[in-house]
Amino acid sequence: MEKIDIAVKCQQVVKTYRTGDHVVMALNKSDFVVNTGELVILAGPSGCGKTTLISVVAGILDYDGGDCTVFGRNLAKLTEPERLLFRSKYIGFVFQQYNLIPTLTVAENVGVPLIINGVSVKEATAKAIDVLDQVGLSDRAHYAPNQLSGGQQQRVAIARAIVHDPHLIVCDEPTSALDGINGRNIMMILKKLTIQNNRTLIVVTHDNRIFDFADRIAEMEDGHVKHSGNS
Ligand code: ADP
Ligand code: MG
Repeated sequence: MEKIDIAVKCQQVVKTYRTGDHVVMALNKSDFVVNTGELVILAGPSGCGKTTLISVVAGILDYDGGDCTVFGRNLAKLTEPERLLFRSKYIGFVFQQYNLIPTLTVAENVGVPLIINGVSVKEATAKAIDVLDQVGLSDRAHYAPNQLSGGQQQRVAIARAIVHDPHLIVCDEPTSALDGINGRNIMMILKKLTIQNNRTLIVVTHDNRIFDFADRIAEMEDGHVKHSGNS
């Protein structure tokens, strides 16, 4: 991909959820800009729209108004196969609930983004074990996800999000199930990617133990990112 200085640009994004007669405006004209190579922490109270915003950014959720581009591309305007291809190549996503595939081993789960990108099973497994080693779990490579603790599953989900060296990594509460040492270890791995490979990271968190890893903290309230003077 050509070099683009702005990784994410959301302008006036609106997202409403409808359940029966009930309408929730989860994103209320939210602006959010992230520069390439930045590690931005997205903070704010539960229910303020953090997961919704990063799901829009990562192209896994459609929105109702405004505009969102990632490395200059408007994901909403791509066809579904184009969007899938873009996401699997350039974006890594850590889900709040991990979303590991229960029928695959830990190593197979981590290798999924590589397989999607056409890497051979042998190569994908070797690379998966390498990344599992970085998060301290290579000895669990052949376990099933449900044989791991919550914190271990969270580390597997992080390994899966970075295995294909995506340009944008989006993490939803990635240290919520981790103790202090493992949380900082994960943040050091993620921080290294931004510095060495100029990757861009958005980390949703409540965990003030990891705030010092951020280049910038963006705060959300009531469906929008508070103006920080940076965008
Ligand atoms: P956060 O991640 O900051 O806790 P969310 O983005 O998950 O916030 O949610 C923002 C608002 O949208 C909340 O009021 C939540 O209840 C609502 N919401 C989120 N997902 C859905 C959904 N699938 N259906 C209906 N309402 C939802
Ligand atoms: Mg959330």
